[in-house]
Amino acid sequence: MKKVNGANATKCALLVLKIASRCNLNCTYCYMYNLGDNTYRNQPKVMSDNVVTALIRKVKNHCITHDIKVFDFNFHGGEPLLVGMDFFKKFVSKANDLLLPETTPIFSIQTNGTLLDDKWCELFGELNIHLGISLDGTPEINDMYRIDHAGRGSYTDIIRGIKVAMKSDKLLNPPGLLSVINIKSNPAEVYNHFLEINPHNVDFLIPDANYDSPPLKPDYLSETPYADWLIEIFDLWFKEKKPFGVNIFESLVAAILGKGDQSDVLGGANKELLVIETNGGIEPVGQLKICKNGFTKIGINVLENELDEAFDNDLGLLFHLSGQKTCQYCKACPILNICGGGYLPHRYSKVNGFNNPSIYCKDLVKLITHIQNKLFSALPEALFLETGASMLTFEKAMSIMDSNRHLLLVEDEELEEFAK
Ligand code: SF4
Ligand code: SF4
Repeated sequence: MKKVNGANATKCALLVLKIASRCNLNCTYCYMYNLGDNTYRNQPKVMSDNVVTALIRKVKNHCITHDIKVFDFNFHGGEPLLVGMDFFKKFVSKANDLLLPETTPIFSIQTNGTLLDDKWCELFGELNIHLGISLDGTPEINDMYRIDHAGRGSYTDIIRGIKVAMKSDKLLNPPGLLSVINIKSNPAEVYNHFLEINPHNVDFLIPDANYDSPPLKPDYLSETPYADWLIEIFDLWFKEKKPFGVNIFESLVAAILGKGDQSDVLGGANKELLVIETNGGIEPVGQLKICKNGFTKIGINVLENELDEAFDNDLGLLFHLSGQKTCQYCKACPILNICGGGYLPHRYSKVNGFNNPSIYCKDLVKLITHIQNKLFSALPEALFLETGASMLTFEKAMSIMDSNRHLLLVEDEELEEFAK
């Protein structure tokens, strides 16, 4: 693939920084520790000063090459607060020194919130770091999977951290929440719980799963439990005029209305993110760790390589272009332009590699057609007719897709090279 500058360039605009490779929690669904990848054991516990300096220099080179004016750094882990406050002070000052004024660095952090206190909030405010905290819902729901190393639930510690952050007048914005969907929960209860907290935004994540480790679908639920769960929340959120941002809904609405898609999960846009491990290793998105042990190790490191070299690697490039490099069944799908074949980690099987639709395909069809039709029905009829769009029901989409099932058998060497 030839690299070019401009909208379609093969480039990175966001680094997910694994600044700590260990965590004080041990959530059962965590792709770092509990879904088959053990490589964290060989990683330094925290990112060193040398790696930080090298990675910021590599970002600078990358921004110059691609004329990038704004670059996102997301502090992640493990649990990023385990690195201590000095790490953040040094990192932000180094990034500002090296990147400004040509490129503006934007900082955010995703923490489990259990260690948050006023001092941390003050520091994040001072350093302009946007705060995101992980919480799955009500105490009972959160504590089903978000547990510590002794098996105890984490809700009490997380909500204490959230309350500190919500009360703080130092933060740039109230914190956002990141929530892994638990289909055993009542979606309205989770929504109302979040409404009481009143976060800046909520990011609902579909749990990481693929054809070899399928998602949880208890018999008592429908065939599309994840769509049903999200649809109930979408309808409340839409009716109540979006009391807080919900990333998955906002990016789907934007894509449906033709305003481009910003999602790193769904849609056809290039996925402009890379991960940096504590040892400086450059990798494609971390959720690919669920495919097999060591899967994301593509053999490059900020100590020696440029960020662009991630796209010389087959897996690095495939993730980047995953909205376009889909199986033939997805290519014939009536909502491909919105879905983009689903999140790459969710397409994997040991038999076919990535030559599959998302394991959540049916859920995605139901969710996307629901949102699309809800939006279209809210438009005045004349305006709807003007768009030239037509309603596509879930049933109609599924019947088109059923007639395309033979395409599931079409081989694709490029996508199958990752089969075991
Ligand atoms: S808090 Fe995050 S990093 Fe830690 S175990 Fe849970 S999901 Fe993994
Ligand atoms: S809905 Fe299914 S078939 Fe359509 S693009 Fe998404 S994963 Fe592929």
